[in-house]
Amino acid sequence: MNCSQVVSNLPKIADDDVIKGRASRHLSTCIRCQAELAQYRGLIRMMKKIEANDLHLNNENLIRTLELIEETVHRDQLNETKKNLAIGFAGVAIIFLSISAAVVSKVLPKIIRKTANI
Ligand SMILES: [Zn+2]
Repeated sequence: MNCSQVVSNLPKIADDDVIKGRASRHLSTCIRCQAELAQYRGLIRMMKKIEANDLHLNNENLIRTLELIEETVHRDQLNETKKNLAIGFAGVAIIFLSISAAVVSKVLPKIIRKTANI
């Protein structure tokens, strides 16, 4: 199965909790299709939220519905940004600690040797 086959089957795939067969094999290795699937599932969740709020898509409340979609998307993106920032900070902290450890392990023995020579 290739990307376009998976994408065209997304409506069917996204509803399944456990994806089986060739689609599953492709999805396990393709980041692009994993992202598509996540986006599609997010859209379904959003539609269900809207449905739960008893908003039906008609002209009267279409604007409110679009606002709700925009709010939901914005909130989700904000959460995603916060998560990415946290991961970024953790990464920087790990790199900093690694460099510190490397510097300390190289410099400390020299200082000890110098001190011992005095
Ligand atoms: Zn793919």
